[in-house]
Amino acid sequence: MPEKIYNARFELADEETVRAYQLERLRELLLHTWSTNQFYRRRFREAGVGPDEIEQLQSLEEFAACIPGVAKPDFIRDQEENPPFGLRHVHALRQERPLFVCTTSGTSGQGQEVHMQTEAEMALTGETYSYALTWAGLQPGDQMFLTLPITMLGGGVIEYHAALHFGLTVHCVGNYDAERKMALTRRFKPQVILANTSYMGRLGSMIHPDERFEGLRCLITGAEGAGIAYLERLQETWHVPVYDRYGSTQAGNDHLFVCDQGVGTVARPGMMHNVDPWVLLEVRDPETGQHVADGEEGEFVVTSLYHFDTPLIRCRIGDWGTYHAPAYCACGRPFMGIEAGSIHRRDDMRKIKGVVVWPKAVNDAVFALAEVEEYQVSLTSGNDGADVATIRVMLSERTIPPDPDAFGKGLNNMLRERIGIRFEVELFQPGELDVGDWKASRWLDNRLQSTGR
Ligand SMILES: [Zn+2]
Repeated sequence: MPEKIYNARFELADEETVRAYQLERLRELLLHTWSTNQFYRRRFREAGVGPDEIEQLQSLEEFAACIPGVAKPDFIRDQEENPPFGLRHVHALRQERPLFVCTTSGTSGQGQEVHMQTEAEMALTGETYSYALTWAGLQPGDQMFLTLPITMLGGGVIEYHAALHFGLTVHCVGNYDAERKMALTRRFKPQVILANTSYMGRLGSMIHPDERFEGLRCLITGAEGAGIAYLERLQETWHVPVYDRYGSTQAGNDHLFVCDQGVGTVARPGMMHNVDPWVLLEVRDPETGQHVADGEEGEFVVTSLYHFDTPLIRCRIGDWGTYHAPAYCACGRPFMGIEAGSIHRRDDMRKIKGVVVWPKAVNDAVFALAEVEEYQVSLTSGNDGADVATIRVMLSERTIPPDPDAFGKGLNNMLRERIGIRFEVELFQPGELDVGDWKASRWLDNRLQSTGR
C-alpha cells in the first residue's frame, strides 16, 4: 500500500476504476470542446467525429483510434492565421477572467508556441502537483525555494502557483545568481529546493563535502532528461532524496512524478507516475500507432483531462520514454508511468561522422564517472570538412583524478566504445568551464553544414 497518499479515492483504487474515470472525463471534455472550440471542432469534423461518435466511445483505445493527434505545426499555423493567440484560445479570452499565458522556448527552431490556461484550470494544475508534493513528504506550511525565474515560459509560473495551491511558502529566488541563491538557502533553511536538474548540479557544486542543510528534506528536479547516475549523484551531494518531475508547456503542467519509492538505482530505475485522474498519457510507437508494452520505449501523446477552457487533446509532445504499467512500481498505486531517467527528446539526435549519437547516451556515460562535475560537447568541422567532436570536461572538486592524463585517455576510450565515435578530450579544473544558468546547453554545433541547433 502507498505510504503517502494525497487522494485515496484514486491512489487506493484499482487500475480499471481509474481507466473508467478517465473515459468518463474524456467524453465530457470532447463534448464540451466540440461546442466551444473552433480549432478542435474543425479537426474532429475532418476526422468524421461529431457528438454522436463521442457519446458512443467505449474505450480509451477507441478514443485514440478516432480522435486525431495535434502537434507543434498545428499550433503555429493556428497562431499565424489568427494572431496572436490562435482560434483555439478564443473561448478562454471571452471569459473576462485572468489568464496565464506561456510561450515555448522555441529551441526547436520552428517557431514559438503560445499556450494559456484559465484561473479555474490553474487551480487543477495545483491539484495535480499536490500528489507529487505529498509523495515527496512535504506538508502545507513547508518552505520551497523556487530557483526558476518567473518569465513567459511555463516552468516557473506553474510551479509557483501549484506550490501555493498545496500550501507551501514559496521563496522566489529565481532571478538571483547561484551564489546568492546558496546564501539565501543557508539563511532560510527551506524544506525543498525545486530546480531544473542540471541547475541543481550547479548549486551542488558550491557545497563543501562536509556541509549539511538543516531542515532540507528533498529536492525536486526535472525539465531536462537526466539519467539515474546524475540523480544519484545529486542525492549524494545534498544528502536528501531527489524527486524528479516531467511536464510540458503544452500540457500547462507537470504530470509525471517520482513517488515515495524514489528515483531508484541505475540497476533498477524507479518510475515516474502519471497523475492519471487529471492527465491521459499514451506512449505510442509512431510507426505503427500502437501503444507500447511495459518496458518498451515510445512517443508521448498527452491529453489533459481538466483543461476544458483551453483543451489539449492528443498532443504529440516530441518526448520519448520507457513505458511501465502500474505494477512496475512497488508502491501499489494504480497510475501508469515512465521509467525514471529514460525521458529524452527525439529531435535531440545528432549525426556525427555518419554515426547516430543520442546526447542522453553521452550524458549517462559521462555522469557515471565521479570525477566529472559538468561537461560540454563542441562539434566543429576540420580543414577537410570532416566532423570534429570535442568534449570539455570540468573535473569535480570532490574527486580530482590523481593522473588527469590517464583519466582523459580512459574517458576517450570509454566514449569510443559506448558511443561509437572518437571525442577529443579537454579537461578543465573545477569552476573553469562556463556552464549556463538555466537549462543546460551542453551541445554546441558549429559545423559547416550545421543548422545551428
Ligand atoms: Zn510508485
